[in-house]
Amino acid sequence: MKTKSVERIITPPSPHFVGDGFRVHNFIPSDYHLSMTRMDPFIMLDYNSKFNFPPTDKPRGVDVHPHRGFETVTIAYKGKVAHHDSYGNSGVIGEGDVQWMTAASGVLHKEYHESGFSKQGGDFHMVQLWVNLPAKNKMSQPKYQSITKDQIAVYNLPDNGGTVEVIAGNYKDKTGPASTFSPVNLMNLKIKRGARTDFNFPANFNTGLIVIEGKIRINDNETADTDRFILLANDGEIFSVEAEEDSVVLIMSGEPLNEPIAARGPFVMNTKEELIQAYEDFTAGKFGRL
Ligand code: MN
Repeated sequence: MKTKSVERIITPPSPHFVGDGFRVHNFIPSDYHLSMTRMDPFIMLDYNSKFNFPPTDKPRGVDVHPHRGFETVTIAYKGKVAHHDSYGNSGVIGEGDVQWMTAASGVLHKEYHESGFSKQGGDFHMVQLWVNLPAKNKMSQPKYQSITKDQIAVYNLPDNGGTVEVIAGNYKDKTGPASTFSPVNLMNLKIKRGARTDFNFPANFNTGLIVIEGKIRINDNETADTDRFILLANDGEIFSVEAEEDSVVLIMSGEPLNEPIAARGPFVMNTKEELIQAYEDFTAGKFGRL
């Protein structure tokens, strides 16, 4: 086994607002050496670093918009998001919860701060990750996985060093509850100062970390502060994380699909023709109503 070395530590790009409710650093795709294919199958990553929203009676968020061809994964660290879609689904993503939405053939949805959170205001800290779908699954039936905090598989690090909370894929003997269309590992490492642990993913899996809180050392030589994205090279399998402070780290590693990408706005397909079809279907009302 070889070490998966650090290819680059990326400071967060300047934030922008998505709607009026999500103040995000767009790590993927960006000019910071993270093209839409570099982290394949992870094609988009908006990181809402911890941001305090003042109280309001009118919930902030993003109004009705479509998606087709991929999955949106929302991970809530602080704050609560309510969502509604064109299939009549709705719910609240609370702190510690994950929503895994398979847009596939197409949904319309809207995403807002939950009304109680909006009235109270407070810290809001989220990740939205888009996971591409294999060509053969892009037009399958949309579905939701509402993964609550208590459903996430927890691996306890030795000596009370913390936990690895597995959302999808595997860490040692723990398997995450999310079902995926291609091999994807997604987990939160919650590690105490001074503790250390190792991860092992195939060399060809594209792998990245975000320091959600704290400060870590990777492979005993590179340190990364809060809000940094750490891109790992495809040169080995194993990397280590040691906490210089109590830390929370989002870890993603997935097998690349290596399929052509035709993307525009909320649609990610394989060909330009499929993109045009997506716009036609959306305009014709085939994504339903909301
Ligand atoms: Mn959306």
